Amino acid sequence: MTSFQRSDFGEWPTHGLERVPACPLCGGGKRSILHAGLRDHAFRTAPGEWVLQRCEDCGCAYLDPRPDAATIARAYERYYTHGNEGGPTESDFARLRRRVAEAYLNARYGMSYPNAFPGGQHIARLFPRRRAYLDVSYARHLGPATGDNRLLLDVGCGNGAFLQFAAHLGWTAEGIDNDAAAVAAAHAAGCRVSHGSLDELPFGAGRYRHLTLSHVIEHVHEPLKLLRQCFELLAPGGRLWLQTPNLRSFGHDVFGPAWRGLEPPRHLVLFDRASLTAALAGTGFSGIEFRAHPGVTVFMWEQSRMIARASGRSARGMRRKLLSFALGVHVAELCEALRPDEREFLTCVAFRPEREEPAGA
Ligand SMILES: [Zn+2]
Repeated sequence: MTSFQRSDFGEWPTHGLERVPACPLCGGGKRSILHAGLRDHAFRTAPGEWVLQRCEDCGCAYLDPRPDAATIARAYERYYTHGNEGGPTESDFARLRRRVAEAYLNARYGMSYPNAFPGGQHIARLFPRRRAYLDVSYARHLGPATGDNRLLLDVGCGNGAFLQFAAHLGWTAEGIDNDAAAVAAAHAAGCRVSHGSLDELPFGAGRYRHLTLSHVIEHVHEPLKLLRQCFELLAPGGRLWLQTPNLRSFGHDVFGPAWRGLEPPRHLVLFDRASLTAALAGTGFSGIEFRAHPGVTVFMWEQSRMIARASGRSARGMRRKLLSFALGVHVAELCEALRPDEREFLTCVAFRPEREEPAGA
């Protein structure tokens, strides 16, 4: 195993650490170390070395110790939530690809990206997987708004890109984010966004028809509390859309401690399908259904490979030595198609029931 240069990262201040003696999802105390010596190789912004524990009762994983609520902001100092499109480092190819995607989104969803590549929607027709990727990344399985209640809340909305998208589909879209810079960007784009957390702000119970949590639940100290809040904010029959890295993914199995989804110490809790289903059902959600998100595997594999190199961790096991990277991604995608439990992301929808079950039923 590699020895890390501690000076590269430094240590998290001891006073800013808190112990997590029991599983934050099920309360179980039985656990085993899944990975030790984890560092923030994804962003190289957070100091500290971290241990990820696997709960033997529900199957999730959690950091112990972890940054406490008072100091966690330190882990986000150079973290982006402001989108990565159109930045100064965008290559010519990436710019063309983005403009083709924008043409597709204009044609498919009635968006109005001004710099879309003329006729790009016809090019997009040649790439069904790319279209399917865009359908999930932008639309989050959201259809056009119908009926009287068209209120939507995006928790952790970043720069508001999804809110603008939802507004084009006829939704009255609101967002909340605790990153001041992201909120400022969203306001500049004309979005209705609040700065803070659900704890601090008076959002109306039973108000929303649709809620989205995109890569949020793994970041919070109290994931069950967040799910309860989401449940209460939804109107009866309302829908939650949630996406988070899948602890039991094929990519995690291959890359181990270098897997991009771990992202210590910003990811405090990681789910597999069973533990997420149990958390949602325990909160009262029903109709829980997992969906595919085409095209994310190659991104996650590229990132994981970079982390493996940056951390000096040698490729684990025979598989990575035998497979070229490109072939590896294809094998992973085939494996994920055959075994949906092993997709890179857990992408699911769940509903607040129209009628609540009586307590204890
Ligand atoms: Zn547990």
